[in-house]
Amino acid sequence: MSAHKALITSSTAYPPDDRGLFSVCLGSKNIAITFDDGPNPTSTPKVLDELKARKVKATFAVLGSLVQQNPSIAKRIIDEGHQIISHSWSHINYTTLSEAAIIDDLSKTRQVIKEATGYEVKYFRFPYGAYNSSTVDIVANQGYRMILWNVDSMDWSYLNPQKTTNSTLQQIKAAAPISPILLMHDIHIETANTMPVLLPELQKLSISFLNAEECVGLSEPKAQPGSQSESVNLHAGIPLISAIVFGALIIRYMFN
Ligand SMILES: [Zn+2]
Repeated sequence: MSAHKALITSSTAYPPDDRGLFSVCLGSKNIAITFDDGPNPTSTPKVLDELKARKVKATFAVLGSLVQQNPSIAKRIIDEGHQIISHSWSHINYTTLSEAAIIDDLSKTRQVIKEATGYEVKYFRFPYGAYNSSTVDIVANQGYRMILWNVDSMDWSYLNPQKTTNSTLQQIKAAAPISPILLMHDIHIETANTMPVLLPELQKLSISFLNAEECVGLSEPKAQPGSQSESVNLHAGIPLISAIVFGALIIRYMFN
């Protein structure tokens, strides 16, 4: 079991509400692929090359400390039409921090992303998926919405493109018709090498690749130039989003 999943299943589920704590996408034929813990100077450019070759857009949950070291890669992520979300400054567990320390960590990270890319980050993913009602309150009060996931590719554990692909497809099919938010990690070269195996399989399912913000219904999908993904109408009210997310959480906790 991944460290991420262990923490999620052992932590208290916080009910999704209109402050925005999302673990699945809207609709039945969408996916948000998310890459955590970068940018990495070796593997992130390779992930970007693979996404570009297949006209797929994704979301990168970046660490402020690594954006500071690799600003041009962060800029490339935005320039190529992907979304950046904050994943903290250095992957610290927010449930161990004071409110002041969380606010400082969020602010430092937001600032370095802005300096590197010009992009004002609006979404956050808790390191280790570790959160409680207090950390959700603090992060929401700072103006962020929060993105979790419902499919863990286990890429960091398999380090094998075919195994990661098989496990991911199996989980996506098991969760259908819920549209997944998929967790991957762009700090492994094997994850970049998984893209040529996984993406064609996902394309066979006629899934639209959306960024996290589009996938949870908070902005209209914009197709990448030359993209084959269909435009879908995701405008839906918060009650519908909450119902879908709550349903997914119930399913997750029933089967975990
Ligand atoms: Zn992480």
